[in-house]
Amino acid sequence: MDIQKELCEWFRKNHRKLIFRENKDPYSIWVSEIMAQQTRIETMLPYYENWMRDYPTIEALANAPIEKILKSWEGLGYYNRARKLHEGAKQVMNDYGGKLPSDVEELEKIQGIGPYTAGAIASIAFDLEAVAVDGNVLRVITRLLEIEDDISKPATVKKVKNIVSEMMKGSQPSDFTQGLMELGALVCMPSVILCDQCPLNQKCQSYAHHTQSLFPVKSKAKKSPEYVFMTLLIIKDHQILLSRDDQDGLMKGFYRLPQYEKMDLEGYEFIKEYKHVYSHKKWIMKLYEWKKGKLPEDDYVIWKDIDELKVIPIIGAHLKILKEREVCQ
Ligand code: SF4
Repeated sequence: MDIQKELCEWFRKNHRKLIFRENKDPYSIWVSEIMAQQTRIETMLPYYENWMRDYPTIEALANAPIEKILKSWEGLGYYNRARKLHEGAKQVMNDYGGKLPSDVEELEKIQGIGPYTAGAIASIAFDLEAVAVDGNVLRVITRLLEIEDDISKPATVKKVKNIVSEMMKGSQPSDFTQGLMELGALVCMPSVILCDQCPLNQKCQSYAHHTQSLFPVKSKAKKSPEYVFMTLLIIKDHQILLSRDDQDGLMKGFYRLPQYEKMDLEGYEFIKEYKHVYSHKKWIMKLYEWKKGKLPEDDYVIWKDIDELKVIPIIGAHLKILKEREVCQ
């Protein structure tokens, strides 16, 4: 048997019964692929179920207000994914009559659908020979063939795409693509490598040479910068002072606690230090609670009733603080 047959057979017998695999509806595949990026499957599953209940069709998503959509995404992080899903849905309604196209080039014209997602939708939903290479696939292929090139370089990704494209010819693309992804998620994992359970072990070069842990090769990412803020918890008469200052480009449209790099803290009491790590920066937030000091007066601050915290979108770093301080649930 060749690689594609072994992989597809293994997938059919061993894949996880995940709700978004119950049908091949292209919209469901689109949502699940976007949600699964940078998020663990167990974390995204309840979000996926709620999302499909609240926005069961592309039309329902396109017609929903962005603030409600961001609230639905609250806690998943990387909020641009939600914004682009919304923009993409509107585009599909306007340009494609409400149906996702099957063609990879057309899919890539839609907001938020890059080469990986386009390949995943085309192969999984439409069963076309389209390549979807993510981190899992890069890891499996570089181990399988002992590819020493740096996977953070576009040339390496292109090389792996070409290999996968050749490998999947004549296969059942939907099972093949999901098989590679599932193998990377369940067997050929980053630090746990279960070669004994791998359907490809007889053809795997790194298994034969005991070099699995040397792959994939990836240059070290630069250390992300740290920013220190005085983060303010200001509550008065069942109202909380929030900020809409998103000039840093993080999570546009979200509310946050007022926070500043420098300020006069007289009348504020230090509570605790919190950390939040983004993909490209780290926030150190020194939380101060207002007692009687001067209140911030910049153009971004706004009073909100505490009950409104249930419906307005709050950035994850500050939502964590508000929950821990039992200001909201
Ligand atoms: S044999 Fe091991 S290293 Fe090779 S693809 Fe399978 S799990 Fe990965």
